[in-house]
This record gives sequence, structure tokens and C-alpha cells, in this order.
Amino acid sequence: MTKWVYRFGDGQAEGRARDHEVLGGKGANLAEMCALGLPVPPGLTIVSDACNTYYKNGRHIEDQVKAEVRAGIAAIEAITGRRFGSVSQPLLLSVRSGARVSMPGMMDTVLNLGLNDETVQALGHDAGDARFAWDSYRRFIQMYADVVMGLGNDAFEEILEDEKAKLGHEFDTELSASEWQHIVSLYKKLIEEELEQEFPQDPEVQLWGAVGAVFASWMSARAVTYRHLHNIPEGWGTAINIQAMVFGNLGNASATGVAFTRNPSTGERALYGEFLVNAQGEDVVAGIRTPQSITEEGRISSGSEKPSMEKLMPEAFRELCRICTELEIHYRDMQDIEFTIERGKLWMLQTRSAKRSTRAAMKIAVDMVDEGVITEDEAVLRIEPSSLDQLLHPTIDPRVTRQVIGSGLPASPGAATGAIVFTAEEAVEAESEGRKVILLRVETSPEDIHGMHAAEGILTTRGGMTSHAAVVARGMGIPCVVGAGTMRIDVRNERLLGVGVTLKKGDIITIDGSAGQVLKGEVPMIQPALSGDFGRIMGWADRARRMTVRTNADTPADALAARSFGAEGIGLCRTEHMFFEGERIHVMREMILAVDEKGRRVALDKLLPMQRLDFTGLFTVMHGLPVTIRLLDPPLHEFLPKTDDEVAEVAFAMGMEASVLRQRVDALHEFNPMLGHRGCRLAISYPEIVEMQARAIFEAAVAAAKETGAAVVPEIMVPLVGLRTELDYVKARIDEVAGAVMNEAGMKIDYLVGTMIELPRAALRAHVIAEAAEFFSFGTNDLTQTTFGISRDDASAFIPTYQRKGIIEHDPFISLDFDGVGELISIAAERGRRTRNDMKLGICGEHGGDPASIRFCETIGLDYVSCSPFRVPIARLAAAQAVIAGSLEDVRRGPKDLRASV
Ligand code: PEP
Ligand code: MG
Repeated sequence: MTKWVYRFGDGQAEGRARDHEVLGGKGANLAEMCALGLPVPPGLTIVSDACNTYYKNGRHIEDQVKAEVRAGIAAIEAITGRRFGSVSQPLLLSVRSGARVSMPGMMDTVLNLGLNDETVQALGHDAGDARFAWDSYRRFIQMYADVVMGLGNDAFEEILEDEKAKLGHEFDTELSASEWQHIVSLYKKLIEEELEQEFPQDPEVQLWGAVGAVFASWMSARAVTYRHLHNIPEGWGTAINIQAMVFGNLGNASATGVAFTRNPSTGERALYGEFLVNAQGEDVVAGIRTPQSITEEGRISSGSEKPSMEKLMPEAFRELCRICTELEIHYRDMQDIEFTIERGKLWMLQTRSAKRSTRAAMKIAVDMVDEGVITEDEAVLRIEPSSLDQLLHPTIDPRVTRQVIGSGLPASPGAATGAIVFTAEEAVEAESEGRKVILLRVETSPEDIHGMHAAEGILTTRGGMTSHAAVVARGMGIPCVVGAGTMRIDVRNERLLGVGVTLKKGDIITIDGSAGQVLKGEVPMIQPALSGDFGRIMGWADRARRMTVRTNADTPADALAARSFGAEGIGLCRTEHMFFEGERIHVMREMILAVDEKGRRVALDKLLPMQRLDFTGLFTVMHGLPVTIRLLDPPLHEFLPKTDDEVAEVAFAMGMEASVLRQRVDALHEFNPMLGHRGCRLAISYPEIVEMQARAIFEAAVAAAKETGAAVVPEIMVPLVGLRTELDYVKARIDEVAGAVMNEAGMKIDYLVGTMIELPRAALRAHVIAEAAEFFSFGTNDLTQTTFGISRDDASAFIPTYQRKGIIEHDPFISLDFDGVGELISIAAERGRRTRNDMKLGICGEHGGDPASIRFCETIGLDYVSCSPFRVPIARLAAAQAVIAGSLEDVRRGPKDLRASV
């Protein structure tokens, strides 16, 4: 029988941190902290599977779940000595979401549950503080009306602001008990008017309303978007944590806050955090009041006048430091915690491995190795490979004089330039038009998530380092400055008022997310140096990995960049790209338009020296490292003009009639060119093209070997082979040319001829094709296209719909389809090696730079992955993680879960 509820409290817990798949991250860690004897308010966790059941039952909570929750609440009552719904000593509850991975701000929470017109009196009496009780009640009504009744927040905020203005108060903390009581009556009236129903007074009704709403928030639009962006499966569901309330708003000896055990932006080893006196948790995260620093050091460096927690509440501070150290040692990782101080007593509300910038992640991993806390292999596992993108972001050239027009907190590192926009929608629109923008918001909310993703950078004028904007931007790796209080955003008139300047929509600014500065205009940037902590981690990764990492590069410049990122060879040089530049396209067209072989050879003779020069450049840069060159692949009409104007222009340049050119272009037209006259089919129709390319390769190999002194072993790759006889035919042409060039040069050249595996037939007949092929490279772009029968150029029209509707989890053109395409690769690898056991196997489709796909490549024993230059570090790290995770055997799961874990 399913156990729906796990309890914790008073030093005992039914769950542990390892149960996070069942209890969600928050619930599992509350249990763990409780078991460690830390001060955690007693509570219970409803397992995440109950969320799925809730949906299966047509958004209905199972009776069995309700029964177990009731029993759990009875246990909380026993520990606290209070009763849920009691009018003398009422127990109030918090109801919080908590999925397997953190989804900051995406789902809902209800606090102070259990308050009604009677219990509020008892709470005030009990605490000896009526003001606190009415403040809690108005908070509860507002939150409940928003989350459960769907009324939103704005009307409540308006009432509060109006009343404060009438009473002449600036801050919420200035309101008296009777003033809050009056506001409560206004809130209740609003609900009656808007919804034609009363605010529910029965705590039991409130409870199930809140539980249902938190489950429902799993499917809210923003949660769905967030999951989509972060590849979080819908089937995980959210757990719910119900706990006894502790109050940070119980006067000036009470507070609530968040802390990181190290600095999440830089990784520096120092407690880092913010808190608010006389407030509840949501006030900190919402960024409504600017919080105070926890430590004196933090206060001084932020230039704040407001006292730190270290000064204001020294005892609670010492206890917090002690617990932070204990948690870091226990979890062996930097923690992100939430706490509340109720009349001087510290309570822990959450701990989890903290999100951090990539730079911080590197520093923390390296420091923890030096501190003896983790091993080098573990340090490698601590870095999310795709996050390395962040390190490759440009930073502002230190030599430039900065025209600073505003400053705030350095929330997410890197610098970005763009035109200013004021709404998330404008950011999304700009991205779709290829324009770079900086998104300006007073503060962001989860509804802005689309726009945040589309923007180059984010700037807010309110909120702290733990505000929504800061947390989300860091997670996305987007440069971000928050709380730029020296600036003002005038949304109505679409203006940004900075120091000495007023900018309007569309004006260019630069933000420096590492320094917390806003600069006017575009500013020169530099690429970061990949050394220091990055260098050490990559060194450990290189030692651990088995597969080599090559790059897809067509020019010496790309190859050079890739080598600086650690590429160990070229896995794919797409030769067609070489024919589009300058003069070459004309010669290429001359070749394509020639009416016979003789005419084609005349044009190919002109292309030969150009190709030779290309290959010599590549071989020279690669200095003896392996280079795989693929023969011409795309259909020839791709090189020809398309519109009538282009045809007329090209015809004029070539001295031919436009109508003749049009006829030739039309003759080359294909209905389905991706499955048409391309790949090795071209080589078979026009062997003279292969002969030219092979000659250019071998002559370049001779030239480069002479220049560098390092022998070049070219690997010539034949695309789109489906039949062994196709490969035989093309290979024979290559071998002939090789023999001729070796004779002419008086020098032996070692070379390999292999094929791409990008058709299902080739994968299935790999043992036969391997008789002729000396290597295989999996062209997973085409292999995905041909396996699914989905055109890779048209897939984006419906793949997102498939993902939204849960038909597929991942876009198979981005992350390998293990079950189908993956099985074909496994079959081909196994059959190929059966024929030729030393056969070199690699992958050169886009998947070669995708961490989950790389992991798959490791499991089936490929020799290398090849990806675009900027993804080389990602691939090096992912390849190492695949080995370490395998050897540590901490991932004893199927390929689907392997994907989730990377
Ligand atoms: C492939 O198909 O995976 C591949 C690498 O080739 P291209 O993308 O050039 O078709
Ligand atoms: Mg291909």
C-alpha cells in the first residue's frame, strides 16, 4: 500500500535526504535536518506521487491521503501542544510545494493557515500581541485569496497602499492591531464582492483548499514553462510540506531570512545572506522590502546603514553560523538555507544544495578538494557541463573608462549589451527578430520567465541577491544586475532614469553582472581566460575521461578556437561551406552548370588550388592531430540562385541567358532534396568531384607535413552511405587519387576512408559496410531525421507542441533519442566492430555537444565525440562525468534516468 505521508518533528523523521524523489527536495531535507537534531518546526510531507493521483482523479484529493494528513497533523499537535482549529491555542500551518528539483517561485505556498475570525483572537491573546495576530490574518487572507481563490494580489495591495496613505504610514510595520483589523475587514469585503462568497472560516476547508491549489500549481503556465526550459519531466509532480508555523513577524526580536554558506556569485568561502526583521519569509523572496545583510562584512561591502543580523541578533547569528557549518559538512556541498527567528529562537525551514554561478561552482569545487571535503572526481561531477557556456561569456574590457549610469547588486556574472525593453513580451519579440535586448523591470515575477530567457541581460531596480530575478538569471547563466536603487524605471513612459541620463526604449546599455553596474551604450568586451579553477577542473576531467573530444570545424580560425578549448582533432569538416565564399561560388556554379564532364573538370581544376589551400590551413593548425574531411554532401541546387532577380544577376555575371540558367536551375530542382541527389550519390554521379577533393586533401597533407614536421593522417569521410557498393565505388576513386599523389610526391601518406552512418539501412548493414569502411562517424542529425521520418528543417513547427502535450520529453534533434536512434547506433557500433574490431567510432551530429547524448556515447563505447568549438569544454566535462558516474556506480539506472541526472 502506498505511504502517502511522511512525518518529521522533535528529532525524529520517517524520511531522509536520499528520498528526494518521493518527498521532493524540500521535504527530504526537512526530514534530514530533523533527524540531525536541528531545530525544524514539526510537520509532514505528502509524497509527490499524490500529485499525479490528484490529476488522475480529476483534481481530487484521495480519501486515504486526507486520512494520513489528518493523522500527521495530530502528531504535530502532540509535539506543539496546540490544536488545529482550536479557539484557545490554535495550531497554524504552512503549506508549501516542493518538487524533486527546485523550481524557484514557480509553484504556490500558503502560510498562516488555520486563522479565522475566532482563532485570530486566540493567537493574539496567546502571543500577547494582537497586532501580530491581525497582521498574520491579513497575510493569510491575501495569500489564500490569491493562491486558492484565484483573485490575484493587486486589489489587496491597492487597499493596503490606500490605507497606509490615509494613515500616513510608510512601512507595514507601522500599522497597529486595530488598523490591521480594519484592513482584514476590507479584504473580506473585497472577496465577497468579487467572488460572491465568504472567506472560508473552517480550517479543514482551508486546508484542503490549500493542498489542492498547491498540487494545481504544478500545472500552472509558469511552472510548465519552467519545466520545459529546464527539461523537468511533468510526471515528477510536486510533494507538499505541511508544517507548524513559526513566526518571523512576532515583533522586533523576530526575523526571517535566507543564507548561502558561501557566496553564490563568486564562490568565496563566507556566510552570505539577507534577512528582514519582523517579517515573514515571502517578504524576502518577493523583494518588496530591501533586506539587511546577515554579516557585518556583507553590510559594509554593500554600503548599507541598516544593522546586520550579526550585530542585531548575535546569539541567533552564532547559532546560524554553527548550523551552516554543520550542514555544509553533512551534505559536503554549499547550502542555501531559509530560516526564521521567532522571539530570538532560530528555526530552520529549508536547506538545499545552493544554485550558484558557474564561476562560483568552479571555485567551490576546487576549494572543497583543497579542503579535503570532496575528491577530484567528485569536483568534476559538481559542474553542470552545459553551464560552462557562462564562462565563455564576454566580460568588459578592463581598459575602457566606464560611464556608469547606475549600480545595484552583482546578481549573475558576465556582461551584456542590448537595447532596453520594459516588458517580457518585447524581449521575446526582439529575440525572434534577432535583436539583442536588456530586460528592465522594477522586479521580475515568474510570469516574466519567457522574457528573461530571451534577453541578453536583466536589470531590476528592486530586490536583493535572492530576489526572483537574481535566482532565475543565475540559473539561466544570463548576466543580471538587481536592486539598482540609484535608477528609476518609468514603465508608463518607457523611460529609464539613471545618474545624469534619461534613456528611452531602444537605447543601448551594457550591464556588468559581475560588478553590479549599468553603463551607457555599447562597451568593448573581452573573452575570458580559461585558466585558474576552470583549468584545474578541466585537468581532472581530462584525466578521468576515456573518449576523445574533437570539433566540427570548417576553417582554420574555427579549428584554432577549438584547439584553445581543448579539441583533440577535427571530427567533421563540412567541405561544402568552403564553396560559398567570394570567387568560389562562381566557380562552383560554373561546375554545376557545365553540360558535360569536360566542362565540369575545367571548373574543378580552378577549385582544386582553393581546396588545397583550405585543407593545408586546417592540417597546419591541427599539427598532426586527426582531421576528418567529409566529401561534398548537399544537393547541388543549394549553390544556385533561387529568385528571378538572383537568376538574372548570376546569368549576367556568367555571360549566359537568364532563361537558360533558369532551365538548368529548374532541372536540378528536387521535391525532397534532403532525401534526394546528395551525399555519396553525387560522388557516384560525378566522380570527378571526389577526385578533385581527394587530390586537394592528399596534396595538402603532403604540404602541411612538410611545413609542420608532423605527419598528417587524413580521414576521408563519405556521407549518406546506405549500401556497401556505394562506398566501394567512392573509395576506389579515392584510392586511385591517393596512389597518384603519392607517386608524384614520392612520399607515403597514411590515410583512412570511412563513412558516416546516417541512414537506418547503414546502421543495420554496418557489419557489411565495415568491410570497406575504416571508421564510422554517426551523423545523428540525418540519422534522427531518417529514423523518425521527420524533416530536420521542419521539425520546429510541431516538436514544441509534442513536448507541451507530453508526446515526447526532449527534442530528438537536440538530445539523442536513446530508444530508437540510440538503438540503431548501438547496433551499428556492435556490428561494425564485429567485422573490424579496431574500428574507430565517433559521433559528429549536434548531439556530440549534448551532455546526455555524450553520456550515451560513453555507455556504448564510442571513441570520440565531435562538436562545435564552443561546446568542446562542455563535451570534455560531460565525457569525464560519464566515466566517473559509471565507475562510481552511483547511476545504476536506465538511459532515461541517466539523462535526467546530467
Ligand atoms: C549529421 O547528419 O549528423 C551531420 C553531421 O551532417 P550534416 O548535419 O552536415 O548533415
Ligand atoms: Mg548529415
